[in-house]
Amino acid sequence: MVNKQKLADRIRDNAQHADNTDKKRKGSKTGLPKSSSSNSYVAPHRHCLVCQIPIALKRDPSICGEGSCIEEYENRQRQRKRWNILLYVAPAIMVGALVLQLMGSA
Ligand SMILES: [Zn+2]
Repeated sequence: MVNKQKLADRIRDNAQHADNTDKKRKGSKTGLPKSSSSNSYVAPHRHCLVCQIPIALKRDPSICGEGSCIEEYENRQRQRKRWNILLYVAPAIMVGALVLQLMGSA
């Protein structure tokens, strides 16, 4: 398990490096350089929820401008709403059925 050891060492190095270079920032343990002069610098960003393309941080909802992505996003939102309703309605129906049964047998 030489590779694992090496990887652990590298992760520790990166974490230390991040600690030394940027103490004020939170979440600086990724090991990614924070200065834009570095080759592997990655600007703060988020990803489109549908196609995972990098988009601006402030984008809300978190999707790119692509028509298919907007459609897919709205689809998911609708589905989520439906699930939320079902989450409350299903137990309500069960409780209702139970109550009806108890009333019927009494
Ligand atoms: Zn997209």
